[in-house]
Amino acid sequence: MKSYDLIVVGGGFSGIASAISASRQGIKVLLVEKSNCLGGAATNSLVNPFMNNATKINGKNVDLSSGIFKEILKRLRKRNALIWNSHFLEEELKYILNEMMLENNVDLLFHSYLTQANRENDEIKSITLATIDGEITLSAKYYIDATGDGQLAFLSGCDYILGREKDSLTQPMTLCFRVGNVDTDKFYKALDKVQKEYNEAQKTGDITNPRENILVFNTPIKNVLHFNTTRVVKHNPTNPFEKTKAEIIARKQVHEIYDFLKNHADGMENSFLMSTAGEIGVRESRKIVGEYILTENDLLSCTKFDDGVVACNYDLDIHNPEGAGTSHHYFKDGEYYTIPYRAFIPKKIKNMLISGRCISADQGAQASFRIMPTVTSIGEATGTAIGIIVNDKIDNVRNVDIKKLQKILKDSYIKQ
Ligand SMILES: Cc1cc2nc3c(=O)[nH]c(=O)nc-3n(C[C@H](O)[C@H](O)[C@H](O)COP(=O)(O)OP(=O)(O)OC[C@H]3O[C@@H](n4cnc5c(N)ncnc54)[C@H](O)[C@@H]3O)c2cc1C
Repeated sequence: MKSYDLIVVGGGFSGIASAISASRQGIKVLLVEKSNCLGGAATNSLVNPFMNNATKINGKNVDLSSGIFKEILKRLRKRNALIWNSHFLEEELKYILNEMMLENNVDLLFHSYLTQANRENDEIKSITLATIDGEITLSAKYYIDATGDGQLAFLSGCDYILGREKDSLTQPMTLCFRVGNVDTDKFYKALDKVQKEYNEAQKTGDITNPRENILVFNTPIKNVLHFNTTRVVKHNPTNPFEKTKAEIIARKQVHEIYDFLKNHADGMENSFLMSTAGEIGVRESRKIVGEYILTENDLLSCTKFDDGVVACNYDLDIHNPEGAGTSHHYFKDGEYYTIPYRAFIPKKIKNMLISGRCISADQGAQASFRIMPTVTSIGEATGTAIGIIVNDKIDNVRNVDIKKLQKILKDSYIKQ
């Protein structure tokens, strides 16, 4: 069995960026993923489009997620798989991400589900995976938890925050779906009227989805619409029985909404329900307690941390965990906050970092940085950090040279 410097668990945007950036530091990396492809929520849960993480500084547009995220955009563009810099074809994305892994010498292990972390004192010694060949155990010097759910940290006994402070309710789960053969011009022209009728159908009980309106996006495919509109509240995404119930409720919502649209919406006359995601989308689950807990207040005051390694200014976009309504706080032009490296360091463990939507934060903060561009930047920061740590022979993730990390990230951003 090969020995690795780093094992990244989870192949979403954060995990892929961790793996690529670590490998670019010359260390040996394995990425483990439970499904058959990379992309995480974008591919497993059909999440689309990319939200924007950019601002204007001194009149100039500044991308706050450059680096690996921009490399992905360029590759999508080259394959005609991106429109408006945001809406993408996930089948092309899967292929591009595989190619990027191979080019960067990252080893991949698909169809492998992390089931156990084998920890001694403050160190993870190995991890156990359920595979087609039974359970296998793999070890590395360092680990990155990019599972979205903080699964590796949870199995290692780390503390976590679930949902909001007062009652642990997380943001709702959503099963995305697509509808094909729509006359989209006709559909959009009459959408306001349909939104009103949708609210009426909620009152009569024909629509059980508590979401306040129909959230629909155009796609790069002609006559195909993308719906991110189902809403399952008050179900814990880390409880397998509750997550199963959520899938069942969401699927019922999909069919209610589709039947409603077919009967009420212009342009839907010849449409068909084309696909639902392979897995319900989870906006928020465990947020692992780290050396620093990033808070909503940090974001609102646009805090710039000395050990800041990621910048973001996306809206604090909270879908109501109890029912209807979505709250927002938009940053003004020029405003942004940074995410400190300490938010990636789980308490009590010296050879693991947390990456992506499960880093150390409260609900309000996570509601902003959870978008795909920003989790990619988080991944680039965690992977680069482990690269430095291995090369500099540091034995604790706490002791990385922050200035060096910041410089490498800046250089990568400028290069793109
Ligand atoms: C419904 C919904 C709509 C959204 N809308 C947008 C949007 O419009 N634009 C936007 O930019 N962002 C949006 N987001 C947010 C964004 O998609 C996610 O927060 C982001 O993709 C998370 O990336 P990640 O890499 O941290 O985790 P994930 O993408 O969740 O990746 C985690 C990976 O780990 C794997 N994994 C998990 N557990 C294990 C295990 N035990 N063993 C092995 N592998 C494992 C999973 O299969 C997955 O591939 C949305 C999210 C949802 C759910």
